[in-house]
Amino acid sequence: MRRGRRDRQKTAKQQTKRCLWMSLGICSIAVILGALLLHSSGYAGYFISGMRERLEARFPGNDPGGKDPGFQPGDDEPGKHSGEKSDYESGVGTGGGSGNEPDSGESNGSGETINGPGDSTISPMDDGELYRLGVNELGKVPIIMYHDVQDYEAEWVRSRSNLRNDLERFHDLGYSLVLLSDYLSGNISVPAGKAPLVLTFDDGTRGQFRMIEGDEGLIPDPDCAVGILLEFSRTHPEFGHAATFFVNSGNPFGDASRIEENFRFLLENGMEIGNHTRTHANLAYASPEAVVREIGSLVNEVRGICGYEPVSLALPFGGYPRSTESLLAGTWDDQEYVNKGILLVGAEPAPSPFSRKFNPLAIPRIRGSQEELDKWLGEFEEYPDERFVSDGRSETVTIRQGRSADLEPERVLDLEVREYPCDMDSVVP
Ligand SMILES: [Zn+2]
Repeated sequence: MRRGRRDRQKTAKQQTKRCLWMSLGICSIAVILGALLLHSSGYAGYFISGMRERLEARFPGNDPGGKDPGFQPGDDEPGKHSGEKSDYESGVGTGGGSGNEPDSGESNGSGETINGPGDSTISPMDDGELYRLGVNELGKVPIIMYHDVQDYEAEWVRSRSNLRNDLERFHDLGYSLVLLSDYLSGNISVPAGKAPLVLTFDDGTRGQFRMIEGDEGLIPDPDCAVGILLEFSRTHPEFGHAATFFVNSGNPFGDASRIEENFRFLLENGMEIGNHTRTHANLAYASPEAVVREIGSLVNEVRGICGYEPVSLALPFGGYPRSTESLLAGTWDDQEYVNKGILLVGAEPAPSPFSRKFNPLAIPRIRGSQEELDKWLGEFEEYPDERFVSDGRSETVTIRQGRSADLEPERVLDLEVREYPCDMDSVVP
């Protein structure tokens, strides 16, 4: 009797189990059929590509990652990334964030540009187009070194009118501005056919940046470097107004009462702050500890003021320390610093950030004087093949056929390399 009941219970259990397995089987078949249906109707591809886009938006493919020193606290600062606009910019209708907008950029009506440079939605060009534009992402990049900007010209001073002329000249020669940090990361985001150019200003002088009372509050003085740059990019939005200002401690831009506001204004308007050491020290004569202090304490100070972390160092007087040990990374006052590049005072165009010749410990600059600009801009006009010319897509490195040995794999990393023939007969029928 007992046994019979147990048997019945057993049979009931087995039946329940069988039911469960059957429903599981039906469910699985339904899922498989559903997936097949989705796939055949193209929806699966849509989901996958949507997911990929979201991933790419989060981790843009234009950052050669691994070589980068990793996440910087300043990475999420406003204005650091192109495309973002500050209140000032949108208020006065200034063009493009840190960088540049293509002439053909469509507007969505709110002042934002769709299909910006380096956008992955821009379809790759054919060989003929690359040849016609002279695309060469192994070419050299001019990094211009200015100091003060005044109403006169002197050894370490560029006159305002000459600075305005320089911008006009860079623009007319097909250059577009990129941030130094973007050059150092290999994130070259200029329209196709344009050549990237980097502007740097050493010493943080009033001639570089000062605010004055305008009709609706404070505005950058139209006669300081920042004002001149913003004014020029208003009428030449594809040129941009990216620039890096190398400051020291104490009284940057000669106005101790507005240090934070001035830093924030620069960052929010697509410009950036670089490290020029705490006391403008000649590191060639500094002890190893003084080198770390000079670099690290300035980074800590800027970080304390506005949360931004400078990632490049311009050596005062071009003085190179005896040891390179603490240049690219170090710790001061329990806080770490990282430099993506150490900038020299002279004296030639810088190598492509993808080239084997790129050396973060020695980034050369061209002095912003008439003589040096004439010399190097003239050199590029005479030998246009020497110049970096962008393919307009920051996720690809486009080079001429047969040059791949000049690429530094550690700098290219997961970027797609595209080669095209540079022999005209094989391109143009
Ligand atoms: Zn200096």
